[in-house]
Amino acid sequence: MENNVFDPQNQETDLSSKIVAGLERISEAFKVLLWEKATALGISPIQIQILIFIAYHKPALCNVSHLAKEFNVSKPTISDAIRSLDKKGFIEKDHSSSDNRSYTIKLSDSGVNIVSNTENFAYPLKKQLSSIHPSDLETLFKALSTFIYQLNRHGILTVQRTCYACKFYNNNLNSHYCNLLEKELLNSEIRIDCHEFEDKIN
Ligand code: SF4
Repeated sequence: MENNVFDPQNQETDLSSKIVAGLERISEAFKVLLWEKATALGISPIQIQILIFIAYHKPALCNVSHLAKEFNVSKPTISDAIRSLDKKGFIEKDHSSSDNRSYTIKLSDSGVNIVSNTENFAYPLKKQLSSIHPSDLETLFKALSTFIYQLNRHGILTVQRTCYACKFYNNNLNSHYCNLLEKELLNSEIRIDCHEFEDKIN
């Protein structure tokens, strides 16, 4: 049966099911770590995610429409979170774009402060990776980046900014090349959240 990925008996003979079950455990770890941080600071998990995202992404991506796609939630959910962050003084709205119905979200000084207090929420996960051999880490990253690309191409992950989906990416005889950076990329140099990414489909 194809659908019984969570049946431990099926997992005994099906590696893909075991991997999916493992990814589900990891997503639980993310939720727990984010909740712990959110509870300590009195803001919601999605608000933390929005603040961290804004801190590290270009203004063109910091608007309600894109954030809704990025976090797979509705625009009203993002608007509510933005309203609350605005009230708490963590963000500022920039209405200077040509479309006066939309605005770009920027961090205020206290927003920058709270990001530096929250962005380490995933550090316990990174720390555990330090005990894995570098060559295994590279293999894991290669499989993970390919998996993310496939999920996006099948409409399961709405947003991703990996080399494999980028119009500047070339694969020649199994070696990776970025036409923008004009350099070959090692497997470990494939990006999964590139500032220069442009979707090859558009
Ligand atoms: S621009 Fe960025 S995402 Fe695109 S191929 Fe180059 S490094 Fe990869």
